[in-house]
Amino acid sequence: TEAFLRRVDKIYAIGQMASGIAHEIRNPLAAMKWSLNVFTMDHPEYKDQFQAILGELSRVDGIVGELLMLAKPQETRFQSARLEEILGVVITLMSSQAKRNEIELKVEIEPDLPYVRCEPNQIKQVLINLIKNAIEAMPDGGTVTVEARRHRANEILIRVADEGVGIPDHVLSRLGEPFFTTKESGTGLGMMVCHKIIQDHAGRMDVHSVLNQGTEIVVTLPAVE
Ligand code: ADP
Ligand code: MG
Repeated sequence: TEAFLRRVDKIYAIGQMASGIAHEIRNPLAAMKWSLNVFTMDHPEYKDQFQAILGELSRVDGIVGELLMLAKPQETRFQSARLEEILGVVITLMSSQAKRNEIELKVEIEPDLPYVRCEPNQIKQVLINLIKNAIEAMPDGGTVTVEARRHRANEILIRVADEGVGIPDHVLSRLGEPFFTTKESGTGLGMMVCHKIIQDHAGRMDVHSVLNQGTEIVVTLPAVE
């Protein structure tokens, strides 16, 4: 909606300004991580505490990384990419988290899909964010289905479906709002990053959700003619 897009533009501007600062945050973070690792070797008795600090440092790094994503589209280089390849990488990246949570990742790709015009790393990021949310919505395990197929003459449709808790209306209306999260350690940036990237690609994102049955996110992207 209009209000949402205005908000995204504002965040995008903030992202631009923040990106310089973000880089400055990342360097000391890396130095801190390195020092901690050295300390851990010398003081194994504090291993748990060091692990906790490392975990939190990684979280800061993750948040900074997501903010950086918002500043990135400026330098976006679109190319013709094969969705099979992008999905292959994403599924590999997500498979250990899926396994840990007793989730089966099912992939259905229509043969001979047209190429998609995109910045592959950004589309990877979208799929990672969506699959992460899908996994996190199924505390008792289940199946996440990722489906890619042709839609109309010149569109590609990617569907990420889970069998999770579903999204209640009061959450649905705030989906994509920066820092809005219902999770104890969520960042509330995942859906916003997705919206922003899909918007930059002249695509669409639709959400269908049924409480206690699951959620389906459908991303539509332009195909290469
Ligand atoms: P985060 O995952 O860090 O909380 P997101 O922007 O990715 O931030 O998601 C925002 C919120 O939207 C989540 O906290 C969750 O409540 C809800 N949500 C997103 N995807 C799903 C899903 N597949 N199933 C249920 N709820 C979801
Ligand atoms: Mg998320």
